[in-house]
Amino acid sequence: MRLTVVGSSPAWPNPGSAQSGYLLECDGQRLLLDCGPGVLPKLREKESWPQVDAIAITHFHLDHWGDLVPWVWGLKFGPAADLEPPDLWVPPGGAETLATLGEQLGASDMFEDAFRLKEYAADEPFEAAGFTVVPKRVLHYKMLAFGFRVSRNGTVLAYSGDSGPDPQLVELARGAELFVCEATLVAPDPEGGTRGHLAVVEALEAFEQSGAKRLLLTHRPSERPVENGYELAYDGLELDV
Ligand SMILES: [Zn+2]
Ligand SMILES: [Zn+2]
Repeated sequence: MRLTVVGSSPAWPNPGSAQSGYLLECDGQRLLLDCGPGVLPKLREKESWPQVDAIAITHFHLDHWGDLVPWVWGLKFGPAADLEPPDLWVPPGGAETLATLGEQLGASDMFEDAFRLKEYAADEPFEAAGFTVVPKRVLHYKMLAFGFRVSRNGTVLAYSGDSGPDPQLVELARGAELFVCEATLVAPDPEGGTRGHLAVVEALEAFEQSGAKRLLLTHRPSERPVENGYELAYDGLELDV
């Protein structure tokens, strides 16, 4: 499979960068993991409208789903009106969450109208664009949030989404070819209360315990440079996994 980092920014965007969006491609099928603000225009730089078969959302913080809103308008009234809509996989209860958000943003049924909306369940594999995805709940404040373990033809890519330190991350990335892991913080636990993000040392610890082969750090503010020796995601990075 091929990974393209479409957007790598954390909760506030790095200069010129989109927020979370990771495109997986294999055999002509395409799965987008998260769809934060800036992801859609980045995808449109390559084709008039992104030909994506499925989108899967880790959680409902804006930096992971915000560009679903303009995607709806493109599907309903714009250049995507004649295209097949992507499957849209959301966390448990996500359809209701989107209906509530839709009331404020356009119409309560705008998301279910535009996409083929589906909810996944924790630890239950689902098929999206020919990939098998296992969603695992991760610690992210009090938010319902998931990481994804994505496999195809025996190759595994793990994506943490947003997570604090959590033994589930080790299971998520167990033996993976590539672990795309967030590393938002300068140091462990400056947040107080329930943890929501990782420092580099914590991402590294989960990676080492998992036995994954390669670590790609992401969701990193540019104001917090990473010391040499780590691979850091940037918008436009393409990797064959
Ligand atoms: Zn985030
Ligand atoms: Zn988040």
